[in-house]
Amino acid sequence: MIQGIGASAGIAIGRAFVLPNWEWELPEQKIDVADFAREFERVYEGIRTSKSEIEQIKDELKDVVGSEETHIFDAHLAILDDPVFMNEIQGIIQRQYKAAEVAVKEAIDHFVTMFDLLDDEYMKERALDIKDVGNRLLKHLLGAPEITLPSDTQPFILIAKELSPSQLAHINPDHVLGIVTLAGSTTSHSAIMARALGVPLVVGIENSLDEPIQTGQIMVIDGSDGSLYIDPAEAIIEAYTDRHRQQTEAKRRLHVIVDHHAVTPDGKRLELAANISSLKELEIALSSGAQGVGLFRTEFLYMDRNRFPLEEEQFEVYRSVAERLGGEHLVIRTLDVGGDKQLDYFELPEEDNPFLGYRAIRISLDQKDLFKTQLRAILRASHYGQVRLMYPLISSVEEVRAANAVLEEARRELEAEGIPYDKGIKIGVMIEVPAAVVIADMLAEEVDFFSIGTNDLVQFTLAVDRMNEEIAHLYDPYHPALLRMLKLTVDAAKRCGITVGVCGELAGDVRALPLWLSLDVDELSMSSHSILQVKERLLRTSQQESRQACEKLFHCRTSGEILGLLQEFSAKTGVKEG
Ligand code: PEP
Ligand code: MG
Repeated sequence: MIQGIGASAGIAIGRAFVLPNWEWELPEQKIDVADFAREFERVYEGIRTSKSEIEQIKDELKDVVGSEETHIFDAHLAILDDPVFMNEIQGIIQRQYKAAEVAVKEAIDHFVTMFDLLDDEYMKERALDIKDVGNRLLKHLLGAPEITLPSDTQPFILIAKELSPSQLAHINPDHVLGIVTLAGSTTSHSAIMARALGVPLVVGIENSLDEPIQTGQIMVIDGSDGSLYIDPAEAIIEAYTDRHRQQTEAKRRLHVIVDHHAVTPDGKRLELAANISSLKELEIALSSGAQGVGLFRTEFLYMDRNRFPLEEEQFEVYRSVAERLGGEHLVIRTLDVGGDKQLDYFELPEEDNPFLGYRAIRISLDQKDLFKTQLRAILRASHYGQVRLMYPLISSVEEVRAANAVLEEARRELEAEGIPYDKGIKIGVMIEVPAAVVIADMLAEEVDFFSIGTNDLVQFTLAVDRMNEEIAHLYDPYHPALLRMLKLTVDAAKRCGITVGVCGELAGDVRALPLWLSLDVDELSMSSHSILQVKERLLRTSQQESRQACEKLFHCRTSGEILGLLQEFSAKTGVKEG
């Protein structure tokens, strides 16, 4: 047995598919004058193969998405035909005696930098096209295999060094039984997405592996405790198949309460909403009985492509989600990239502390055109459902006002254009930075609602990087400092009469439920797979008793004591842990 870290619960049994690495290894030796003609011919051959591959992709895509969406590939074909691109490559081969693949790589870098420097969105997009098509050409010159997931084989367990959220966004849960990554942590966005998709995930096995896993090996993984078996004995497979069956049965039993109201025995109603990042996840949320969406992480919409999504494209997605929710609320959070969420086409600066750096609302306020495009799309969608708007990573009143000023511009534009939107749209902020907690009373006067993002709030309060496996044991959501942060925030919201919800992972942790009831939060928004478990607990937990039990919580000095008290209370009310 190999011990990793369980990052998304569930058992998976199946064959491994190992994702190859993406990095290019370029030859270092210089070539001879006598080799020039051969290297030119290699480039021409690479271009021919790339072009026929692009034509094929265009053809296949046309049937799926219509010919509109394939225009990007025409741009790729045009680059491959462009004499300036070819001249640059030939020049590097002849002047610097470099091999074809090195010359191609340097030519790509040259044009990408040149176009990137121009202050023109159109030219920046061209830079992306060059990067994309250049990588395709490089792939052929190097004879590297196409990196795609098989879709025609049996579903498999995906093995990767690490998986970025954008790679995960392309994964079809019907084909992937489970995922194992050599690196990774439980609070990374990839882990959050795997939980939302209900795909078992084990991370951090790098140091426990003696030999690399091979495609085709039989694997058993358990995403609850992080255990993993490679080519195990029949008895192990049988035991896990049995457990898998029991878990499916338990889930089925929980499903009985899917349509029940989420209300405590003494009548406290709590909205149990879902965190989603795509339309795919919305369907899972709805079948798990979510009452609306308390957090739509829109950045995944930006990851699923090779350029910024247009206003129209965003509007279509937001409107579809709003309509599909049929009157239930939808909180759309504006772009929250940076940290572990990167966009291939938007070069973020190299930073020593990316989680403390150029990200989220800071990027939006710096790139106002991008921000306004998103705000217009959200406002337009608000006409079609119960849409609310939320800003991430707020740390000052100025930021809220600056964001609202751009919002105001967007509103004025729509009005001038006669485009309808909800004039009473509610505006909220995420409380996920300690500064925001400390000035929560001031922020509460600027907005309509708070949503507490415990993932980042724990990270920043305790100064513990949520991605760092080395210090994962210090990432402690039950730390007394966090409890005080939560209380300060909720009290400030209540005093000002605005609503307050929680949308970090702690919202879906059943152990914390008495705490939320005692604080009297209005909403818990969580990964869909937690909703029924939390609801089941809620149906049996009185708010009055939670209040009494939790009084002592705020005097505890260690998280051990806090968890002990919560557990004691659960046991007293006849609730079994786990
Ligand atoms: C949070 O920080 O708690 C949160 C919900 O946002 P994210 O996990 O997307 O950073
Ligand atoms: Mg956050």
